[in-house]
Amino acid sequence: MHAEILTIGDELCRGEIVDTNSSYLASRLWDLDITTRWMTSCNDRESDIADALRLAVARSDVVLCSGGLGPTEDDLTVDVVSGLCGVAPSIDEAARIHLEQRFAGRIEVSPLQLRQVRVPTGARIYSNPVGLAPGFEVTVRDIPVICMPGVPRELHGIFDKHVERRLTELREARGDVERIARRIYRVFGRGESQISAACRGIVDDVAGATIHYQLKFPETLVKLVVRDRDQAAANARLQGMDSILRARLDPYLYGTGDENLVDRVMRRLLEAQLRVATAESCTGGMIGELLTRMPGSSKAFVGGAIAYSYDEKTRQLGVRKETLDAYGAVSEPCVREMAAGAAERFGVDYAVAVSGVAGPDGGTPEKPVGTVWLALAGPEALGIVTKKLSWPGSRDQVRTLAAWWALRMIDAAISMQLPDHEERQRAQRILVGEVKR
Ligand code: ATP
Ligand code: MG
Repeated sequence: MHAEILTIGDELCRGEIVDTNSSYLASRLWDLDITTRWMTSCNDRESDIADALRLAVARSDVVLCSGGLGPTEDDLTVDVVSGLCGVAPSIDEAARIHLEQRFAGRIEVSPLQLRQVRVPTGARIYSNPVGLAPGFEVTVRDIPVICMPGVPRELHGIFDKHVERRLTELREARGDVERIARRIYRVFGRGESQISAACRGIVDDVAGATIHYQLKFPETLVKLVVRDRDQAAANARLQGMDSILRARLDPYLYGTGDENLVDRVMRRLLEAQLRVATAESCTGGMIGELLTRMPGSSKAFVGGAIAYSYDEKTRQLGVRKETLDAYGAVSEPCVREMAAGAAERFGVDYAVAVSGVAGPDGGTPEKPVGTVWLALAGPEALGIVTKKLSWPGSRDQVRTLAAWWALRMIDAAISMQLPDHEERQRAQRILVGEVKR
């Protein structure tokens, strides 16, 4: 079943708001195994909306619309859709009662207010669990057209409450039984082009298999999909490619599924009851910020030092003046001492330190912009490991990359304690060495 998403609104077409409804709907449809063939946006103009809808029903199996269901004069979706169905708009009584109860004794309900509880006569109504304007479904030239309000919270509420179930029903009614097996592989430490080169050919001889790459800086998601009429067959073919793909992405694959590196590291720290601290120079607290996103993270994240000047590196972390004078702040000896100092002063299992040249100024031939030194001080068996990044990018990219590498080093250090030999070897390769573009 192929879907079209139509988002309606002047603000969208003027670039004043970002069309998050389209991406929300597309991803929900994808989860239901419905492919979005078209995503269209148009102005609040009757003729534009009508043209967009006529085109949509001519080329798609189902159409999902957002916007233009509100009370103002520029909310025209009900009128246009009614026109296409050859009916008049009428008031949805349940929604009207809801609206009057909401406003009771506070605001008088004006005729304009009542505009938002109109629907095309005879439409299937989808009540709004969080707002006033109901969604609805009509059939235009045999194609179901489902309209929802533009306010994202309301659209999500109506989708969850009614539309998801309805789409499954529509799909089954068509005898559309294609099943999908899919897995998301999360990769950090290699660029998108290197990753796609590494995966070349993997799906070529596998029936119904496709591979997609999504850059979600600083990580890349590799999405493996297999379609078949039989779910078990799709699963089996996906499983068949799994070990090949893992080997190709080694050692940069850090996980699969919805959990990103930030959540993964904190979950693992909490599970293992480990405590961590940070010593940050070029990331200015970013690592600490990432480590404290998850509720309950204070059980694992003890604290950190943000130390930019030489004096603060010495005062807060005990970095020796001689080290700074001899090697500078962006150097292996400096981050070693920063990590060691943080581990000791905060009394933690792991301390991670970072110092680098984020740019755009401040680079030198020996230490160009994008040079970042990282160190991780861990338990005795691990000692202090260091890593150098040489990855030119914008200031923001260099800092984000450095912060993620700090997390990845903690992640790998946790893996070093696992009994699985291969897992430890992979972790070892993450912990040391230089990362170049
Ligand atoms: P309202 O009752 O607020 O008028 P509506 O159904 O008429 O709701 P619109 O007027 O099109 O919807 O949009 C209302 C608000 O919802 C917009 O100002 C915007 O903030 C948000 N919105 C609309 N469309 C989208 C979209 N495609 N993506 C994200 N936000 C949107
Ligand atoms: Mg509106």
